Amino acid sequence: MENKTIARKLRLLSQLMELHEVNPFKVKSMANAAFKVDKLPYPVKNKTAEELEKIEGIGKSTAGKITELLQNGTMAELDDLIAQTPAGVVEMMGIKGIGAKKVAIIWRELGIENLGELYYACNENRLVEAKGFGLKTQDEIRKVIEFTMASNGKFLYARVEPEAKDLLERLKAIFPDGLIDFAGEFRRCYEIISELIIVLGSRDQEIALNALLQSEVIGSIKAHENHITGHLENGLKIDIVCVEKRYFYKELFAQTGDETHVKAVFEKAVDVIDQPVSEELIYQKAGLVYMLPELREGTAFIEKAQNNTLPHLITYYDLKGSLHNHSTWSDGINSIEEMALYCRDELKLEYLGMCDHSKSAFYAKGLSIESVLQQQEEIDHLNKKLNGFHIFKGIESDILYDGSLDYPDEILKKFDFIVASVHSILKMDEEKATSRLIKAIENPYTTILGHPTGRLLLSRNGYPINYKKVIDACAANNVVIEVNANPLRLDLDWRWHQYALDKGVWLSINPDAHRTEGFLDMHYGVLVARKGGLYKERCLNALSLQEISSFFSKKNRG
Ligand SMILES: [Zn+2]
Ligand SMILES: [Zn+2]
Repeated sequence: MENKTIARKLRLLSQLMELHEVNPFKVKSMANAAFKVDKLPYPVKNKTAEELEKIEGIGKSTAGKITELLQNGTMAELDDLIAQTPAGVVEMMGIKGIGAKKVAIIWRELGIENLGELYYACNENRLVEAKGFGLKTQDEIRKVIEFTMASNGKFLYARVEPEAKDLLERLKAIFPDGLIDFAGEFRRCYEIISELIIVLGSRDQEIALNALLQSEVIGSIKAHENHITGHLENGLKIDIVCVEKRYFYKELFAQTGDETHVKAVFEKAVDVIDQPVSEELIYQKAGLVYMLPELREGTAFIEKAQNNTLPHLITYYDLKGSLHNHSTWSDGINSIEEMALYCRDELKLEYLGMCDHSKSAFYAKGLSIESVLQQQEEIDHLNKKLNGFHIFKGIESDILYDGSLDYPDEILKKFDFIVASVHSILKMDEEKATSRLIKAIENPYTTILGHPTGRLLLSRNGYPINYKKVIDACAANNVVIEVNANPLRLDLDWRWHQYALDKGVWLSINPDAHRTEGFLDMHYGVLVARKGGLYKERCLNALSLQEISSFFSKKNRG
């Protein structure tokens, strides 16, 4: 075993000892020993326990630990402490800049158990107010986690978008007469991007390849046949496919849809499609109406394209309001008035739904019954003053472990609408999770089921649910399902939107904003909703103020 490995294990041991509040003197001497071993100019593995003991800064008890590690490959005390700590909390110890003391606060006081939850909390500003943290530490932690998430080569769509668009612009500047477009996952608005594909059509393929190789548009640039590959500064893989102009649309089509989709369309084509002048033409030859890139996943929408019954996909401009948002009353950054003015004046929306956390969400300063009543008074007051813009009184009620909501009925009935979500005890098997959700769906006060699986993309799997049963229950109880637009969530997954729509269920694109800029996440919600085939007639927050008011009051009358 190398000194580095030994040092790392001793360091982890000292951190876990500190986390579990072992005698501070022992913690300190273990940390010193780790430092010492790391710096020794000779391998520790050849030394006997007696020799180790004599090294300055190691001492008898640590020497014993090292010997144990060398003999057994592990240390009983370390194993013991690891067993008492959630795996994600152990992983946090590896983050530069947060020592055991901060991890202890994150875990014990904020109830955060893994990197995904920690990242989410950073994005929701939840660390700023915790003891010993501040905006700067929070930003540093966020960056390190982003780096860790990127190191497996996968990126959230939202993190790729700005740099992808910038790269496309730079390419257009190099090839002003070229045909250039995104393809692959990014053009399909896939939620996770592992590679950014761009198709470039130019008059001369060789010249284009050379021009690209000489440019510095991307890092570690290489040519392979007609592909130019490399990566962006953040590590995202890039593949630029260079073809002659006349093959551009065929290549663009072939590089955009997933494999099954491309194959299925080509198989349907009656004619040879060699040099189509548009993608529309390819679909036409296959007897299909044009399919937007978002819909080119598998064969899901091919039948509809054949019958000319493709949905007219929702757009950002169809949205008339924003439901499910937080304010300073719970864990948000802006006041209700600031949130409302932003919606009215910047986004030109007609209404805002406030849904602060309910009383069980202690980590997010959930509202006591008294606060609910005070908040509703504030909303009444604001509604008088906002000139036709309307704030709906909602709440994001925790779904308790037994599936019940978080307030007695006489309080629940005071809200205009209720988003019901699971926030605690996420470790459940499918049967438990499904029945917990269904119980909440059957509650007559539930209007919207919030982030149905609790997943955090790239970092935390949601609890497993039986999608069909949950969606069927929503259909039976007239409950809307949220498409949570936070780029980390995008939950309900787009793969289930069609099933929900077929069952007559409405969807709602909710930003779950914790500050004014959070509303902008609705953009990402719209993108995945389009992938799911959502159209505005079935999107709750595409209803006008008048329509949604009557939707809510009908629901409340039962
Ligand atoms: Zn929530
Ligand atoms: Zn929320």
